Amino acid sequence: MTTAQPFLPAACPRLVIKIGSSLLVDPDGGVRRDWLASLVADIAARHAAGQRPVIVSSGAIALGAQRLGLPKRGRASVEDAQAAAATGQIALSQVWADLLGRHGLTAAQILVTLDDLEDRRRYLNASATLDRLLSLGVVPVINENDSVATTEIRFGDNDRLAARVAQAAGAGGVILLSDVDGLFSANPARDPDAAMIDRVERIDAAVLAMATADTASGMGSGGMASKLEAARIATGAGIALAIASGQHDHPLARFDSSGRGTLFVADRRGGARKAWLSGRLRVKGRILVDAGACAALRSGKSLLAAGVTGVEGLFARGDAVDVVGPDGAVLARGLIEYDSGDAARIAGRRSAAHADLLGYAPRAALIHRDHLVML
Ligand code: GLU
Repeated sequence: MTTAQPFLPAACPRLVIKIGSSLLVDPDGGVRRDWLASLVADIAARHAAGQRPVIVSSGAIALGAQRLGLPKRGRASVEDAQAAAATGQIALSQVWADLLGRHGLTAAQILVTLDDLEDRRRYLNASATLDRLLSLGVVPVINENDSVATTEIRFGDNDRLAARVAQAAGAGGVILLSDVDGLFSANPARDPDAAMIDRVERIDAAVLAMATADTASGMGSGGMASKLEAARIATGAGIALAIASGQHDHPLARFDSSGRGTLFVADRRGGARKAWLSGRLRVKGRILVDAGACAALRSGKSLLAAGVTGVEGLFARGDAVDVVGPDGAVLARGLIEYDSGDAARIAGRRSAAHADLLGYAPRAALIHRDHLVML
């Protein structure tokens, strides 16, 4: 099946496999061990064929909640979720280490926070660790460090985390295994005409509109919206992403043979640094620009202050900001050269006036084109 091709070992030496909570944990809070063993057999087969899998595993909160007897599957409060994650994570790691060990594979655990992948230096550090582990043939098992991450600085769902991990690991593909078969044109539970989309070349407004708010399974936190966001991050970084069902045994072998699922085709434009930038989740401000500046950016130029019509948000030099055109659409994202106060001071003003307005020698641009990515 053509849909599954990008994920075969020869075509995709490194692959991220994300497993949702509802697949790992049964409704009573126990580990779905038999299913997991069948998945691990698939993973071991790929490893033996030369592929290096990276596992992004949810389930810590759901498992811990059961062990601690917490209500609402551990999601009644942030404190509950943090306690549940700390308790569940140790059990989760044991299960992975045990099942992978049965195939002679060594597991390694990495728990990351959003900042570990948003801060460039820490991101490169995580990337180097993953690289070393994979070159040693170890299978990294990754989750968000939910016990220390606070609400404002969390991924919150492992879909987007998986896309960021794929970038850090230099993976060519991501498979999101969940309790849905793929992306549907409408909610299949409600609309008999809903059809599954096999292949998405570009994540445009029509595709985004297919994600409804009620697609979450109730156990994990990622619905279709977070899967589409993960697809945007991955494909923008040149990584293919598939949503496939994990509701049967041997889900990877099944995906290979049936090709059933939704494939988001990788976008090959742009370099690694720009991909990291466009995948950033935290943006500190918005720079509003006129039509002339939009045209300049589209032709590959830097953003100059003269074309800026407004500055929103509080940010420091080096923060990520969105660039918004006169129609209100975000057209680019970049690392700003000035803090918000100085950016507002020189907004709309020609470069010759900047030194007087700022009291120091101005920089060449508000956002240099090397630190700017068109969205
Ligand atoms: N990190 C969470 C956990 O391990 C899951 C996040 C998600 O549902 O995607 O429980």
